[in-house]
Amino acid sequence: MPEVKTVLLPSKGHLFIACNIMIVIVMMLAEMWLRTAAQYHKQAVVICGFAVSYLMYFVLEPFVDGAQMALMLPIMIALIYFDRRLLLILGLFSFLFYAGVYFGLERPLLDKPLLEFLMVECVFIVFVVSALAVITRAHEIRDHLEQVTKSEQGLMVERAISDKLLKIDALTGLYNHKTFHEYLDSLLEQCESNGLSLQLALFDIDNFKHVNDTYGHWVGDLVLKEVAAKVGSMIGLNDFGARYGGEEFAVIFTDKSYEEAYAAAEKLRIVIEQMKHPYAGSRPITVSIGLCNYRSGYGKELLFRNTDEALYEAKRTGKNKVVTAGHNLNNGTAVSSA
Ligand code: GH3
Ligand code: MG
Ligand code: MG
Repeated sequence: MPEVKTVLLPSKGHLFIACNIMIVIVMMLAEMWLRTAAQYHKQAVVICGFAVSYLMYFVLEPFVDGAQMALMLPIMIALIYFDRRLLLILGLFSFLFYAGVYFGLERPLLDKPLLEFLMVECVFIVFVVSALAVITRAHEIRDHLEQVTKSEQGLMVERAISDKLLKIDALTGLYNHKTFHEYLDSLLEQCESNGLSLQLALFDIDNFKHVNDTYGHWVGDLVLKEVAAKVGSMIGLNDFGARYGGEEFAVIFTDKSYEEAYAAAEKLRIVIEQMKHPYAGSRPITVSIGLCNYRSGYGKELLFRNTDEALYEAKRTGKNKVVTAGHNLNNGTAVSSA
């Protein structure tokens, strides 16, 4: 059994156990603080680190050469947090505290050589400088990662914007002709394979040339924008509105019966008629609508032919009305055309 030599009370072996118990208590207290308290977590860890490192030092010092290494623990804590300021404070504090321990306890009680003290203090300095380099490098890597993430986000936003620009009609904000056809193609496949219900409505603004000729093209553009906005805002989440061309819009209704699609188209027609356009002579702008219910086996061409015929019928029979293709709906306004 080696003689227990400790700076606290020489030749008292039970201090070894007492120090270990204190280490456990300090760590448990810190753990409890971290679990229960909402703030001062860093401070709790730093104080715990200090207490544990010095207790370990007092326990090990009589038996182990280089036990002073335990005193580096507080500096390691700054590395855990990658905190430069904390590192410098802990480094300075460790430096001074060990000087106090050496000149207050170790030198008078244990007669330790000055060289050992100087070596420990040098190790403190080297440790702090190395830790500073690690933290600096970590910050550089973090900044680099942040930059990479930012530029990736920027690219994603740019891609989303250019994707949108490719799909959206610039004047009206509705989907463009190309996107409309792509979407319709995929929906028609679902109609054939899953029996999805689908109706196509073609809207054409009545006497639009007159608006242009009387009030100018920019007023015509304004009217187009407003009518398109109304169409876009009134269709359902499962419906799809597009600018088909010039002053024509197309709406694909899905998840609706033919009667419901007709009611939606009729409602749109009435709301558009009631819109106010003070810059266009305050005269109502109206639309004629052709509506066709898709039936399995139709194909895109027949669907369009029927819808077009219904629209033509609406124009021919006085405009500002919804005409359904294929079969009569039990409603006074609807006219069968195909
Ligand atoms: P109808 O009731 O038979 O549909 O008559 P309409 O005058 O609406 O039809 P027409 O096909 O004779 O004229 C459509 C006009 O729409 C002609 C064209 O100058 C105008 N137009 C097409 N695209 C635009 C656009 O982007 N902006 C403006 N201001 N006018 C447009
Ligand atoms: Mg037209
Ligand atoms: Mg027109």
